[in-house]
Amino acid sequence: MIFLQQVSKTYVSKNQSVKALKEVNLHVSQGEIFGIVGYSGAGKSTLIRCINLLERPTTGKIIVDQKELTGLSEKELRQSRKKIGMIFQHFNLMKARNVFQNIAYPLKGSGLSKTETETKVLELLDLVGLKDKVSAYPSQLSGGQKQRVAIARALANDPKVLLCDEATSALDPQTTKSILSLLKQINEKLGLTIVIITHEMQVIKEICHSVALMEDGNIVECGNVLEIFSYP
Ligand code: ADP
Ligand code: ADP
Repeated sequence: MIFLQQVSKTYVSKNQSVKALKEVNLHVSQGEIFGIVGYSGAGKSTLIRCINLLERPTTGKIIVDQKELTGLSEKELRQSRKKIGMIFQHFNLMKARNVFQNIAYPLKGSGLSKTETETKVLELLDLVGLKDKVSAYPSQLSGGQKQRVAIARALANDPKVLLCDEATSALDPQTTKSILSLLKQINEKLGLTIVIITHEMQVIKEICHSVALMEDGNIVECGNVLEIFSYP
């Protein structure tokens, strides 16, 4: 589902340059939950932002769902990005809009009628267990509820891939568990491929099938979670 081939990213600012990714290769299979773990500064965030080209790699190829994103124009890229949903540590909801409007936002321009949009939004709210909050504003929601809204919004265009950038790092352990179990449920129900970056090993152990360990812009270990975490 996702291939990264020899992807590198160098940030250049003033007279400094930082090699955040060093010729990284990665393969994420369809339907798996893939974790990327490593200390702060290892390059995790750069890597996940490269997968949807929020960040343009300096060199290398990125292929998602058989399409090489690195070769696309901005217009083609906007279309292809619909296949890739993303959620963030701080949820990134629109404060002045209610839950319904936040989730319906990515559906604008999709050609759905008002009724179809309503059906879709309610379906998504049902999936994330928040039907009773349809008219609430983000400020009226807990952290876990905000992340549920963000997940519903990320799924609005029926993506093939969901990218999670430290999605549970702002949440307490109990809420983290419930969000992880929701992600697992969505993975199983929709067959969605999920990529999770985190600095918390526990998150990986809890729900990931495969894991890549990053250090200093490199993937230093990669494989099945059970193999990586089982010591002889
Ligand atoms: P992680 O997500 O693992 O903490 P990042 O991908 O955020 O790692 O960062 C990797 C390296 O790239 C770090 O040295 C960081 O300081 C640097 N970096 C990240 N973003 C930028 C940027 N926009 N400009 C310059 N350097 C950056
Ligand atoms: P604006 O651009 O004016 O902020 P949006 O286009 O984002 O508004 O969303 C407005 C649409 O959302 C309207 O069709 C409105 O009826 C619908 N809407 C907002 N809240 C709800 C709700 N709780 N239940 C159903 N529809 C809602």
